[in-house]
Amino acid sequence: MLKDNYERILSEISRSCDNVKLATSKVTLLAVSKTRTIEEIQTLYDMGVRDFGENQVQELVKKYDALPKDIRWHMIGHLQRNKVKYIAPFIYCIHSVDSERLALEINKQALKYGRKISILIEINIGNESSKFGLKYDEINSFLPNLASFENIEINGFMTVAPYTVNPKENREYFQKMYELYVDNQKKKRDNVNIIELSMGMSNDYTIAIEEGATIVRVGTELFGQRSYIR
Ligand SMILES: *Cc1c(COP(=O)(O)O)cnc(C)c1O
Repeated sequence: MLKDNYERILSEISRSCDNVKLATSKVTLLAVSKTRTIEEIQTLYDMGVRDFGENQVQELVKKYDALPKDIRWHMIGHLQRNKVKYIAPFIYCIHSVDSERLALEINKQALKYGRKISILIEINIGNESSKFGLKYDEINSFLPNLASFENIEINGFMTVAPYTVNPKENREYFQKMYELYVDNQKKKRDNVNIIELSMGMSNDYTIAIEEGATIVRVGTELFGQRSYIR
């Protein structure tokens, strides 16, 4: 089943890319493996998947220890500052940075491990009180605050779009995110190199790709329903 799902998603991705005349290689499928077993992840790994996303530090560390070391682990959930140290040695990209204090801590831990850690800034595009992330309008005043953090590289933006029954309703949010992405690519800032736009999940990743996503985060469509919501 995992294989069928994976192949179906790959063909959906290439169809969406075709729709907007984009090379399929421009989009990364991030397999959201939270709550899934080591065996399920290994199965996808054996089919060639290398990017996996998790939202809890403890689970992430456990899976990192158990699985091949060339996996690119992405942290996509809200991250507490006191837990950064556990993932700093190996994390590939942190998608959920939404405060200067968190960025400072990531910078500090990255320095300790002699690394430069890729981060994305999370944007609360729907202005929902239940969601983390900076407001859209805060980005311009926020990015310069990170200018001295030499052990992080700000590689783009991430958003979790509002839940909708009709995913097409999120198209306008994705368009706004793309605007933010393009605007910030033009600005030259220290430690900022905008190359990724992480948006789109199981119900709307095809639309997100059409609107410029470079990373889509897919869990349910790939693995099936999670037995509990997270
Ligand atoms: C769980 C999760 C996903 C994947 O959601 P699905 O609907 O299962 O594809 C994507 N992004 C974040 C931040 C998540 O927490």
